[in-house]
Amino acid sequence: MATSYAQHFSTKATPQTEAIPGTKQVENSAGGFSWVVDDWARLDRFLLLGCEGGSYYATERKLTIENAQGVVRCLAADGKRAVARIVEISEAGRAPKNDPAVFCLALAASQGNTETKATALAAVPRVCRIGTHLFQFAESVQAFRGWGRGLRRAVGQWYASKTPQEAAYQLTKYQQRNGWSHRDLLRLSHPKVDEPLSTALRWAVGKADLMSPDLRAESPLITILAFEAAKKATDKKEVVKLIRDYGLVREHISTQFLTEPEVWDALLEKMPLTAMIRNLATMTRIGLIAPMSAAVGKVVGELANVERLRKSRVHPIALLIALKTYQAGRGDKSDKTWVPVQQIVDALDGSFYQAFGNVESTGKRWMLGLDVSGSMASGAVGGIQGLSPRVASAAMALVTAATEPQHVIMGFSNQLVPLNISPRQRLDDAIKVVSSLPFGGTDCALPMVYALANKIPVDVFVTYTDSETWAGPIHAAQALVQYRQKMGLAAKAICVGLVANQYSVLDENDAGSLNIGGFDSAAPQVMAEFVR
Ligand code: CA
Repeated sequence: MATSYAQHFSTKATPQTEAIPGTKQVENSAGGFSWVVDDWARLDRFLLLGCEGGSYYATERKLTIENAQGVVRCLAADGKRAVARIVEISEAGRAPKNDPAVFCLALAASQGNTETKATALAAVPRVCRIGTHLFQFAESVQAFRGWGRGLRRAVGQWYASKTPQEAAYQLTKYQQRNGWSHRDLLRLSHPKVDEPLSTALRWAVGKADLMSPDLRAESPLITILAFEAAKKATDKKEVVKLIRDYGLVREHISTQFLTEPEVWDALLEKMPLTAMIRNLATMTRIGLIAPMSAAVGKVVGELANVERLRKSRVHPIALLIALKTYQAGRGDKSDKTWVPVQQIVDALDGSFYQAFGNVESTGKRWMLGLDVSGSMASGAVGGIQGLSPRVASAAMALVTAATEPQHVIMGFSNQLVPLNISPRQRLDDAIKVVSSLPFGGTDCALPMVYALANKIPVDVFVTYTDSETWAGPIHAAQALVQYRQKMGLAAKAICVGLVANQYSVLDENDAGSLNIGGFDSAAPQVMAEFVR
């Protein structure tokens, strides 16, 4: 018998523990071989996913360093493009958290060339839209550079660009964070502004007395006056009146009044949507949200208001987390409990899908493959406790399943795992199914191999994974090529990266393959466009 050398060295079927000959595959953290996404794709992953809590294979520190080095390379290659991307993803609210964008902007303001630094500093008000973001920026940026004139001017400009009304709101609502306060930043930046903004800023540094016995609604600084009055209030009726008359929000109210249903009732009237979603448990616990109550009707109505949902840029993850937490009836970090109201749970479930925006069905055949291997259970997407890449991928897959009638959802580790989940289930139930699956090794080629073996016609394979694939006699990209050839179908492939690492299972040179960053609220649109 002749020796078949090709069985040991083939470009068409290579074990995942070896690189496909002639490609730029590198060894991944699991000991298998993957492609490496370019720095721009990695910038997206970092902006979208963050790396809080690290991953199965890398600590938060290691992942942060790797990502920051990638950002610095992007800044060196094209600083303007990097800043534009940071601003774009941040402004559109596509990422679950703004923290990575703030961090990247601080890097750009420090590590870029002169022009990049100036572009980054000019973008501060666009990325740091609320006081909290500005404090985060101050904290990050001083890790990289000193408080030179350019930086001081940029921070000053943040204040100077506000109307007196906006400033009054920001100064009172977000007073301090991470050891930074408006007082600190104003002392550093000394913005030159006109009245009455000047009075507001002097109030923030403790140099203007704005306690007025007679509140006048026409004052541009009315929020500060009302805030000062609320601080001195001793009766909940006064507080309720201040909220109703002057639009005070939860952050303006002393803790002692935040156990009163009447106070929350007043707050709920004009409560920003994101705050409403975050405070559902509290409002239920104190008795405002109760079966048949007006508050339930109000909340359900707001959650069903698609236009408001999108205008408020509520990220779908915020709704997913609210659903998981609220439905549980108890806090993660406290012993507080409440009895969840079913209509609220269902409304959160519905709004999750709406928050991704309207995606029309492509009419194509989708195979949604979820990597449910052990490594996918570590780490927290967007730094959110309990939102492992595994859980996040199930939620993402259901979004596509909800709009694409022709789909199959399957789980894989080193073998195929039956996955009985459907968008007709409530999200938290679907997540429970995925969370309770046994762990295993990783073979990202399985969806393609399975579809070919069973002659299932597929137009697009979506793989939700960390791309740390290693177990399997053939690479996913090779299995895709075989599938196309033997089925005679120009199947496309999408790799949804759920960890901000550098790997991808897809061939960088294949025009029919697309890498996208995990929990991007624009992902369903991007995927549908690519498939069309
Ligand atoms: Ca794995």
